[in-house]
Amino acid sequence: MYDAVLFDNDGVLVTVCEFSVFLEATRRAFEGFGVDPEPADVEAVSGVADPERVREICARYGLDPNALWRRRDREATLAQREEVRAGRKRPYDDLDVVRSLDVRTAIVSSNQHETVEFLLDHLDLRDAFDAYFGREHSMAGVERKKPATHYVERAMAAIDADPERTLMVGDSDSDLLAARNAGIDSAFLRREHRAGHEPSITPTHELSTLHGLYGLVGTSAD
Ligand SMILES: [Mg+2]
Repeated sequence: MYDAVLFDNDGVLVTVCEFSVFLEATRRAFEGFGVDPEPADVEAVSGVADPERVREICARYGLDPNALWRRRDREATLAQREEVRAGRKRPYDDLDVVRSLDVRTAIVSSNQHETVEFLLDHLDLRDAFDAYFGREHSMAGVERKKPATHYVERAMAAIDADPERTLMVGDSDSDLLAARNAGIDSAFLRREHRAGHEPSITPTHELSTLHGLYGLVGTSAD
């Protein structure tokens, strides 16, 4: 049994935004510097960005990567807040499972820390987690996101998690790889948007909903 659980945020606790939301936010960031970017460059900076690629793109447009990235993250967090307020980015129905688990819990997200914080406040979930870590609005934050272990390790330290008894729940290969890199077990959560996905990393467990956690950790009713 595990006594600490780390949760990815997007696609695990709350639904993911349409990619167009990020494309539009990124385009606004470029336009803020007076640049009319190529669609392929907007796409590269919008998604699960590769820091080298971001630097290469910025060099081409004569932009400071850190300045563009800060603006991109600011636009992305504002756009996501709007999606949350409009009910398009919303909690999954099984989210209450988290409250009933008798374990220490933390969120480890590659989304902006500010976005995670807004979600927790808006959804009245602050007390459902013992700690939460999103990404800093900087290129350093991009380098440190999963599959790197930086935020995983910070979260484990914050909730005093024993690696032998810690589980990472995620919907992406980067979650599973971050867990492997940190030496902890992983559970791949195969929600609807991952129906056909074959993870490149073999998870320790596979779940179809958060209810599957009841078989892996204790509940407060035990
Ligand atoms: Mg995710």
